[in-house]
Amino acid sequence: MKIPMSSPDLNEADRQAVMDVINTPILSLGPRVLDFERAFCEYTGARHAVAVNSGTAGLHLAVRACGIGQGDRVITTPFSFVASTNALLFEQAVPVFVDVDPVTGNIDPAQLSEAARDLANGGPAAEKWLPRRGAGAGPLKALLPVDVFGQPADMDPIMAAAREHGLKLIEDSCEAIGALYRGKQAGSFGDFGIFAFYPNKQMTTGEGGMIITNDDEAAGFMRALRNQGRAVGDTWLSHTHLGYNYRLDEMSAALGLSQVRRLDEMLARREEVAGWYAEGLQGIPGLQAPQVVAETTRMSWFVYVIRLAAEIDRADLAKRLEARGVPIRPYFLPIHLQPYMVERFGYQPGDFPVTEDLGRRGVAVPFSGVMSREQVEYVCDALRQELGRA
Ligand SMILES: *Cc1c(COP(=O)(O)O)cnc(C)c1O
Repeated sequence: MKIPMSSPDLNEADRQAVMDVINTPILSLGPRVLDFERAFCEYTGARHAVAVNSGTAGLHLAVRACGIGQGDRVITTPFSFVASTNALLFEQAVPVFVDVDPVTGNIDPAQLSEAARDLANGGPAAEKWLPRRGAGAGPLKALLPVDVFGQPADMDPIMAAAREHGLKLIEDSCEAIGALYRGKQAGSFGDFGIFAFYPNKQMTTGEGGMIITNDDEAAGFMRALRNQGRAVGDTWLSHTHLGYNYRLDEMSAALGLSQVRRLDEMLARREEVAGWYAEGLQGIPGLQAPQVVAETTRMSWFVYVIRLAAEIDRADLAKRLEARGVPIRPYFLPIHLQPYMVERFGYQPGDFPVTEDLGRRGVAVPFSGVMSREQVEYVCDALRQELGRA
């Protein structure tokens, strides 16, 4: 058996929705994007939804809408996909990393509160949070937590810190569409929530992303920026702002609309697959299944990341599983140790020990909403046999 790492959940209605667009001449700047945005407002309860052509583009527009610029500081997490930090670097801002909670992998709220206080006060107490070089001299402007693997960050203390210090809050919910924190939608807590629709995400548009916000002015600004800076009232080839081409095309929007209509059903299937894994992995030595904070969280399963015991050779295990047709992937490689980050900010191994530990021991196993029970059992059996032998 050969198990795919992930597969999009596509049905006939999805394919037909894309075909319907291709049969018209309107392939961009048409009605589908508006319909998709409206459906997203309904799903999340947000006042505005702004569709863009990637989650990264969405993060970048949110950073611009916050007025974050050169040397400004933003508290964020090193345990994430690089896009959450890159969106800050695009504007020459300084990501100030805070280590993560060892259970969830989400930013540690106690350390975040302490860092926000120290950075807001300035002086020597702020120094310990800053990188060795390239720390900038700007004020602390915002918090940028990430809802890792589909589990929302601990938003209550994060929002309290934002309020206390007058900070903007950008929630990277690119891995958590449909997740709930104390009954409220992931992405709906801060000034901006961002979602992503790459094919391995819970729902897909091929490439695509969405920003939600209740801020009328910011929504208008982001709509202008995604369309080359053309503001409402600008005539053809007149541009109020420096903008980008971050537009989502009509085929992608039509697919997104079709997908969001059955999102809850797709999330339920993913939940079922996660349940099969939880059962099938029981009692296998040397691995730990993902942990969900049940008091606060309804999970939206993005990937299924298990943790290996420290003594297990992950690369060797990957090789042996690959030979059985079971791919696994390390998740995440810490952002602060990416070569361009080391060069720019002087980070060293040991700077964020929990992130590094999770990064060394975490592996995503094959996961999607279209996996069969038989496939999940095959993966679990392969893990049981290889780890039993290790
Ligand atoms: C997927 C993802 C993004 C956005 O990815 P795109 O490929 O640009 O759509 C951003 N942040 C996180 C944490 C992600 O997982």
